[in-house]
Amino acid sequence: MHFSPLIEELIQALRCQPGVGPKSAQRIALHLLERNRQGGQRLATTLAQAMEQVGHCSSCRTLTEEPICPVCSSSKRNPKVLCIVETPADLLALEQSGIYDGLYFVLLGHLSPIAGIGPEELGLNELLNKLENQPVEEVILATNPTLEGETTALYLAELLAPLQIKITHLAQGIPLGGELEYLDGGTLSRAFAGRQDVK
Ligand code: ZN
Repeated sequence: MHFSPLIEELIQALRCQPGVGPKSAQRIALHLLERNRQGGQRLATTLAQAMEQVGHCSSCRTLTEEPICPVCSSSKRNPKVLCIVETPADLLALEQSGIYDGLYFVLLGHLSPIAGIGPEELGLNELLNKLENQPVEEVILATNPTLEGETTALYLAELLAPLQIKITHLAQGIPLGGELEYLDGGTLSRAFAGRQDVK
């Protein structure tokens, strides 16, 4: 026996989430329908609004519904330091650690020829433009310590080498294969404080 078409559609739609299989999707759908209509309505409204209105900061590319995100528009940030991270979650992890007061550039991924992600998808032209037009004195490469993250950092180091800018890389001590967003604040602080010159 099957549920009615609309319920089936809801279950299928919920499966767009990573880690949500058929059973979990069914449990979530039935829970909302049976016990939490109000929560379901709120989820539907917020989801629709977020999908429609959240875009990317035109300066650092992180997710925001504003043209320029709060970090980029803050006058309290140090515009001479630019930290390059892979994802908005990495940016958030650094913000929550409170150890950094410069600006960011978010790659929205890492180099991955297999997935068709090259320099263009990572916004590297925008990055070069930014570095030409802003008084950046240090670029911190804070990609994840994974194979792809390290490959991306190496590529960036070579790309930026001709510019008269100091380039540093987060210190070792981040477990290999780890991701910034899952690190505890102490480990992240140490890696950040001990960052080393790439050139
Ligand atoms: Zn921004």
